Amino acid sequence: MHVLILLAWFFQASEPLETGRLPREWPTGGPRCMESPDFFIHEYNPHLFILRESGCSHYEKPFLYLIFGQERVMLLDTGAGKSELVPLVDRLIAQWSERHGRPKPKLMIAHTHSHSDHHARDAQFAGRAGVEFAGTLGLAPEGDGQVELGERTLDVFAMPGHDTAAIIYYDRRTGILFTGDNIYPGRLYIRDWAAYVRSTRRLVDFTATRRVSHLLGNHIEQTATPYVEFPVGTKYQPEEHGLELGRAHLLELQAELARLNGKPARVALRDFTLYPKAVK
Ligand SMILES: [Zn+2]
Ligand SMILES: [Zn+2]
Repeated sequence: MHVLILLAWFFQASEPLETGRLPREWPTGGPRCMESPDFFIHEYNPHLFILRESGCSHYEKPFLYLIFGQERVMLLDTGAGKSELVPLVDRLIAQWSERHGRPKPKLMIAHTHSHSDHHARDAQFAGRAGVEFAGTLGLAPEGDGQVELGERTLDVFAMPGHDTAAIIYYDRRTGILFTGDNIYPGRLYIRDWAAYVRSTRRLVDFTATRRVSHLLGNHIEQTATPYVEFPVGTKYQPEEHGLELGRAHLLELQAELARLNGKPARVALRDFTLYPKAVK
């Protein structure tokens, strides 16, 4: 009887996740840069847009996310290059507002972490009326929090290791975990190994009670061939690995860190590579 009550509660409590589509392969920019826009736009669904910076703009080719709530829209990162981003973001916000018959939501700029390939265009947005910067949201090093966008709540999860200021966002509506440079198909640069091990363990626990549709990071450096990465600095990357990972990759990461037992080592796994890196 108790089990039945529990099951009934569970099914009521779990609204279906908002679905979306990811491309099998992303444009990377090039090989002919004169023909490439600085950003490729992908509509995951009508309320979530993924922007990929072209390799012609900057070899890091980071991904940016534009996440719409009813009151606020969050731009997660501003990229690595210098070209104009404001007109593109303004256009997407205006289109969203028109399509959904809603007033334009307020723009909030947030970041996955403090590295320069993720906030290069902040200055373009600074000082603009109505634009708000989330900063580090006053998080303790291993503290959690929430951002409310209006009928859309993002859980905020501090993840020191790659960067002391690294933050992961969990979108309750789509089940997407925005993992920044902490875990993605590429080189996982780990500056503070012990902190990264702790963070990964906490993230495994955090995701154990939540539905995770995708882990979406901010770079692709892995080829579509298992265990093979593109060399550092590659601008044009045909036949890349997909952007998305799943929670199983997180468990694989945790198992590998446990196997290494506190000893930093470079290890190539099927879909990403561990790269210990000394703090400069
Ligand atoms: Zn980084
Ligand atoms: Zn990065």
